[in-house]
Amino acid sequence: MKSKVIFKSFCFEITRKCNMKCLHCMRGEAQDLTISKQVIDECLDNIAGMYDFILTGGESFLEPDMIEYLFDEIIRREITVYGFSCVTNGSVRSEKVAKAWNRLADYIAARYKLTEDAEGDRKYLRSIGRITVSYDKYHQLEYDALETVKWYRQYLNNHCIALRENLEENETIHALGRVLENDDIMRSGKIDYVVCPHRISLLKDTNMVETGVQVGCNGIITCAKDSSFEQQDKKNFGNILTEPLFDIMQRGMRAEPFTEKEAAVYDRVYTELRTGKIDLKQGNELLTYFDSVYTARKVCQKIYPWMTFEEMVEAVYDDMNIQLRKTEDSPYIFTIYPLEEYKVTREESIKRTQTTKIKALLTDPLSYFSNLSSLKASIEETPLKIWDGFKRCE
Ligand code: SF4
Repeated sequence: MKSKVIFKSFCFEITRKCNMKCLHCMRGEAQDLTISKQVIDECLDNIAGMYDFILTGGESFLEPDMIEYLFDEIIRREITVYGFSCVTNGSVRSEKVAKAWNRLADYIAARYKLTEDAEGDRKYLRSIGRITVSYDKYHQLEYDALETVKWYRQYLNNHCIALRENLEENETIHALGRVLENDDIMRSGKIDYVVCPHRISLLKDTNMVETGVQVGCNGIITCAKDSSFEQQDKKNFGNILTEPLFDIMQRGMRAEPFTEKEAAVYDRVYTELRTGKIDLKQGNELLTYFDSVYTARKVCQKIYPWMTFEEMVEAVYDDMNIQLRKTEDSPYIFTIYPLEEYKVTREESIKRTQTTKIKALLTDPLSYFSNLSSLKASIEETPLKIWDGFKRCE
């Protein structure tokens, strides 16, 4: 029997079609691809609940029939949802979309149990379904976005809201997709880089996924981090059309060795380095350190496949500790591990590493030795710089 999964945040890529060509588009060139009923069915068959779900694209409202099908199937299957939203470019005013929004919001509101916080309840029930219309200098809308917002407001019921989203003056744009070809934006100093993927994380001993997850319109499952179509196609955890979502989630927990937070730090350091906000030498040293941890964790997963993520982090920490402690004045130790956190002595780390090796020999000696022999090749295979798309930024 398939295990169903609960998501904190789940993204449905409705379509890769788009009727605009915004210069700041992180997705890249639009594609003639739309989600199928089969992809929706396979997903919903595997989902027990979503705290929040998001429609993304391309321009999702170009495919009202698929939005309607998705929403009605959520209702028919009685899937638990707390809220849903979409950002649209504002060019499509669809009654079908507005009605689907109302139906799903009503379904969610009817199942909601009031709490003692009357004001909190009122606010929540007023904004279960959200439509946000983009408004900035990059979207080439023929009319004011506010007109589209007003248009949706006349159709939406009292559980839904429509808003206009402004691009704030100090907001950065991801150096992805079409942006990479735009010299003006790339040189504006207002870009950030998204280069480091991260693992899927499940709450301990549950089927609840903490990290955002996305299903692409072609069925591929990725983390819901902002990304280009190209990145999604290159780095995904599997396809819902060929295996159950729960199995893909299990793989996603091991496919990438960095947590969401670590990947965010990597992206920040990388961005600051590329935009000249930190010293070149220091920035490169930090990235080299992160790359070494990434490679070490990948290798560790291979040699000790039975380890939990937490055990692997500790084992790699001990390995690095032993290496770095050889040169006590290494800048990495103090930059990465603030002194007060750097408590494990080199001797303790050696002891813990030996224990890990003994455990590996006792648990699965054959796999231990066979993986050891393929270790050298693994290290050579693992790219030092993380995401393939990274090369395009250099
Ligand atoms: S930013 Fe949105 S509206 Fe603009 S081209 Fe990309 S997907 Fe289309």
